[in-house]
Amino acid sequence: MSYLRKDIAEMAGYVPGFQPQEEGWIKLNTNENPYPPSPQVVAAIREELEGDGAALRQYPDAASRRLRQVAAELYGFDPSWVIAANGSDELLNNLIRACAAEGEEIGYVHPSYSYYATLAAIQGARVRTFGLTEDFRIADFPQRYDGRLFFLTSPNAPLGFAFANDYIEELASRCTGLLVVDEAYVDFADANALELVRRHENLVVTRTLSKSYALAGMRLGLAVARPEIVAALDNIRDHYHLDRLALAAGEAALRDQNWLRATVGRIRTTRERVAAELRRLGYTVIDSHTNFLFASPPDGDGRRVFEALFARRILVRHFSDPLLAHGLRISIGTDAEMNVVLAALAEIG
Ligand SMILES: *Cc1c(COP(=O)(O)O)cnc(C)c1O
Repeated sequence: MSYLRKDIAEMAGYVPGFQPQEEGWIKLNTNENPYPPSPQVVAAIREELEGDGAALRQYPDAASRRLRQVAAELYGFDPSWVIAANGSDELLNNLIRACAAEGEEIGYVHPSYSYYATLAAIQGARVRTFGLTEDFRIADFPQRYDGRLFFLTSPNAPLGFAFANDYIEELASRCTGLLVVDEAYVDFADANALELVRRHENLVVTRTLSKSYALAGMRLGLAVARPEIVAALDNIRDHYHLDRLALAAGEAALRDQNWLRATVGRIRTTRERVAAELRRLGYTVIDSHTNFLFASPPDGDGRRVFEALFARRILVRHFSDPLLAHGLRISIGTDAEMNVVLAALAEIG
């Protein structure tokens, strides 16, 4: 259609993980949390809806001040270093828009989050990808990388390993543009890169409440960066990007760190048990710092196992990409769900 920009008309959109519309599936394909969010979150949303929902008549706080304040206290930064967003996807999008003009380059590791490529395409930015070495470093990363922005998914999705902080610092000093550390899974890891934001002016850390806080349905993300970067992200975003219920939910979720610790602890315990069981079945399993496992069956045919699980109404993620086709990404569910999966895998062979 000639109405559309030529590149937009021709682009392939991002395909999110399958969301079955009927009940009865064990759903381990989009790294959602199997446990509910904090009861404080539900109470805060109910409170926002009190009095027949009269509060909804009015626009939300366009600056998300209370949510930023709570996040800033939790992270140990001044609120001017923190921005909230409608999912961390919004932040990734606006970071590209803020840094890369049409035709300019952004980079990221492949395999990692393929949505970066879609966002770059919308902006008309060019993409350069870097592979991984056997020991999970970036292959052939230049001494000086001049792309406008580089996304480092750490812990990595879909493989689950994490980059060490001293390596992230080295990358930050080799980048002349921004280094964005996408920490979507960091609450399941042992370390994080927040402190590095103070030391490297080109370093940005993004977080999401979708996974560890069990709020994928609310759409909440956060970023920590220099105030100048935060100010630019504020200037280019939609002004009322977070609705009242999301703001209330986000504040309550961040305030209930005990709930976070408890659910994350359960998921990590299950993760380690399932990893050991999978290895007993002959699977190759990458040590995970996330709420999923990347595991490969002995015959290296990920698709075969994906299909056999699918037939049993168990949904995991298989990627047809040649670098990933040998394995499966399995989100960590409840212990009961994982027992069903393990029994199925033992049967499938
Ligand atoms: C889930 C995920 C996101 C998106 O998070 P939202 O806050 O739900 O938008 C970003 N990056 C990675 C690597 C993810 O896995």
